[in-house]
Amino acid sequence: MTPLIEANNLVRVYQMRRGLFGRPSPVRAVDGVSLSVMPGETLGIVGESGSGKSTLGRMLLGIDAAQEGTVRFQGQPMPALHSPEWRALRAKMQLVFQDPLAALDRRVTIARQIAEPLEIHRLMPRQHQGDRVAELMRAVGLRPDQAGRYPHELSGGQRQRAVIARALASRPKLLVCDEPVSALDVSIQAQVVNMMRDLQEKNGIAMVFISHDLKVVRNIADRVAVMYLGRIVEEASSDVIFRAPQHPYTKALVSSVPVPGKPLEGRVILQGEPPNPASRPSGCAFHPRCPLARDICRSVVPDLLEAGEGRTAACHVVAGETAPVAA
Ligand code: SF4
Repeated sequence: MTPLIEANNLVRVYQMRRGLFGRPSPVRAVDGVSLSVMPGETLGIVGESGSGKSTLGRMLLGIDAAQEGTVRFQGQPMPALHSPEWRALRAKMQLVFQDPLAALDRRVTIARQIAEPLEIHRLMPRQHQGDRVAELMRAVGLRPDQAGRYPHELSGGQRQRAVIARALASRPKLLVCDEPVSALDVSIQAQVVNMMRDLQEKNGIAMVFISHDLKVVRNIADRVAVMYLGRIVEEASSDVIFRAPQHPYTKALVSSVPVPGKPLEGRVILQGEPPNPASRPSGCAFHPRCPLARDICRSVVPDLLEAGEGRTAACHVVAGETAPVAA
């Protein structure tokens, strides 16, 4: 089956200035990432702040152009940003941001904003949009009588539901959700995630779900890609990642997720802060924080290799357990 979206060796480099008078230096925000998402599948992308996951999400939609590599949607190359072909494709690919208040226009009613994609993509005459808006509002758990409200008249959770309703209006094939519940109260997060999962299953939508919060990702993702400093360091089914992580970074992330009834002792604690992307460590970028680092890790970048159970991992030690490597 053809993947819905397929990225091959994506690279995105930014020029970052250190301090007011510093010279700009290149930062490889996304550095050789390949992935694919099948129709109806949810891929979770996790990693700490600065890992490149948001940039990757925008590159998948063609909003950030790849400097190297390719993105294909339904087997076809991603058209250039703002081209007529790209605008037409945007009806099939929608983005849900972290902050619903920033994503919504404070001066426009919720109903008008949910109907926006119907207008932009000329999907439905205005006289029929009311029924579709009411249907979408019910689908995300809003009452149609809230249609005339403005964003500030809704709670944070209701605003994010409205943003999701707007994203669904054009019946997309793909949703890229960038930290969609991070700004919500913990008590609301689970409700919104469950609602998204139900809608996704019902409508057969594929999702790229970007989050630093592994608890949330565990609840929604079929597969998980773990990013560190612009690269995928481990990818596997959600079950494999959470049951038996292999990469030391994944182990530390998974270990940090609280499990009811499981004692804190024995957890792998992630040491130190993520390094500055502008001064990437040599070899394996994780080596300054890795409890298993050995000499080879400081000089040789590990390749992303098959590592059993349908997993790929980029680690000399994991590779050494599946195939001998020079230490
Ligand atoms: Fe740790 Fe080395 Fe594996 Fe990197 S390659 S995660 S430093 S053991």
